[in-house]
Amino acid sequence: MRVEFLGGVRTVTGSATFLEKDSIKWLVDCGMFQGGKEIEKKNYNTGSYHPRELSFILLTHAHIDHSGLIPKLVREGFRGKVVCTKATLDLCEVMLRDSGHIQEMEAEWQNRKNRRSGGKGTAPLYTVKDAEKSLKYFFTVNYNEIISLTDGLKVRFQDAGHILGSAIIELWVEEGGEGKKLVFSGDLGNSGQPIVRDPSWIKEADLLWLESTYGNRFHKSREETAQELLKIVQEAIVHQAKVIIPAFAVERTQDIIYTLGQFMREGLIPSIPVYIDSPLAISATEIFKKNSDCFDRETKEILLRGENPLGPPEIIYTRTTEESKAINEDKGPGIIISASGMCDSGRIKHHLKHHLWREKSHIVIIGYQGEGTIGRRIVDGAESVRLFGEEIAIKAHIHTLGGFSAHADQKGLLEWLSHFENPQLEVFVNHGEEKVSMELSQLIRERFNLKAEVPLWREKRILFAPEERIITEEEKRELASPEETFHNLFRYLERNYKRLRKKLRRMRSEGKEAHDPQWLEKLEEVNRKMEELESESD
Ligand SMILES: [Zn+2]
Ligand SMILES: [Zn+2]
Repeated sequence: MRVEFLGGVRTVTGSATFLEKDSIKWLVDCGMFQGGKEIEKKNYNTGSYHPRELSFILLTHAHIDHSGLIPKLVREGFRGKVVCTKATLDLCEVMLRDSGHIQEMEAEWQNRKNRRSGGKGTAPLYTVKDAEKSLKYFFTVNYNEIISLTDGLKVRFQDAGHILGSAIIELWVEEGGEGKKLVFSGDLGNSGQPIVRDPSWIKEADLLWLESTYGNRFHKSREETAQELLKIVQEAIVHQAKVIIPAFAVERTQDIIYTLGQFMREGLIPSIPVYIDSPLAISATEIFKKNSDCFDRETKEILLRGENPLGPPEIIYTRTTEESKAINEDKGPGIIISASGMCDSGRIKHHLKHHLWREKSHIVIIGYQGEGTIGRRIVDGAESVRLFGEEIAIKAHIHTLGGFSAHADQKGLLEWLSHFENPQLEVFVNHGEEKVSMELSQLIRERFNLKAEVPLWREKRILFAPEERIITEEEKRELASPEETFHNLFRYLERNYKRLRKKLRRMRSEGKEAHDPQWLEKLEEVNRKMEELESESD
């Protein structure tokens, strides 16, 4: 069987793995690369398959860094099944639509800029319509049920404890009379995280894809973290100040609502307004309420007592821009939860502009901040950041609370890994910054005596072949020096173009026609790709 690592390797975004056996081709996750122009170029480079050839996309969860390119693949001809849990589909309905909207807005903004400089137009990666169309191909499965996808290919989704609907994927593959088991951790949550159930333990696997977002870090306990948040909110109340929490619309927001609700239920803080200023977070919260069967025991007990774990009465949901702006009129203490979680887009930027320079305001960072994002600069102690073309001084209190993370820390990851029983298990460490993934893979080799490595982007492998051997880091770098690959690809392109022209001349001289529909279709595709590349480099 063949594998190609298409994303989420040596970076946290763009999760995607291509697999092939007996001419059946499929993906596990189909995520979007995020975090700046350079890395986002990879969204146009989807690997050595055609979307039309794929039979399945097995989707671990709804976050855009795992699901975000599905609409693009459908637009390009994917007609297979997107297999996921029901809650994942419900979340994808709002998240992919929202993502399509963002793509359209960004293309429009880029086009305005291009026109001003006399350049050409660019098309969005995909549109809201593409996103809506892609939902038709979703196919939902229950947790814990073994499903036969096709001959010699079975799958089971287990709790990953990361966000609502999130799953670890177990995959049984039979080829040439031999069976192997592949496991994809997806994003793994913390044990004891509110609302969702804890990650399931898996015992069997031949190959494991293991995430490593926090592979070199240790979170404080949830209780300690909740106490820290409580103190921050109490201080803000004394100073009549605001607490700003940038949060991912799905899970982090609901997690914080749950925790603040707990403070209020226990009378630890008075009733102060809590603004949820993100239409996506509001829709996501509705979806949480609809999927209470995915809740853990504690959350179900709150529901049974007739209380609402996701809706203390102090919560004010602001959908429209006017409502959002009106928040700034409120001069008293309050909490503002808004997206995006990495402060790069969305309404959170307005709130940061209003509060970063105020000494009494508190900014509470609870989620992962990717390299190159505004959130990362704030966490790293920058003195100012640029927002809407204006340099804003950072005077507010900045707090980082790791304990609210939806990702397991190093201890959690190793603990989860320790349940595997096969001493021959091989581990691909993914979904982490390069340095972090390397560190974790070394730790796995030392502590568990397992084969563990960090694949390269676009690296291809034959799995379970007898001649398989581990390629050293140096060999990998040589193999994939981006500059060299780039020049080689260009050389091939020129050579192929010349050959094709020659072939056409020969055919014509022999009196044969070359413009049959298949040829035309292929040429159109090549042309389209070239245009895409050309417009990207502007
Ligand atoms: Zn995730
Ligand atoms: Zn992820």
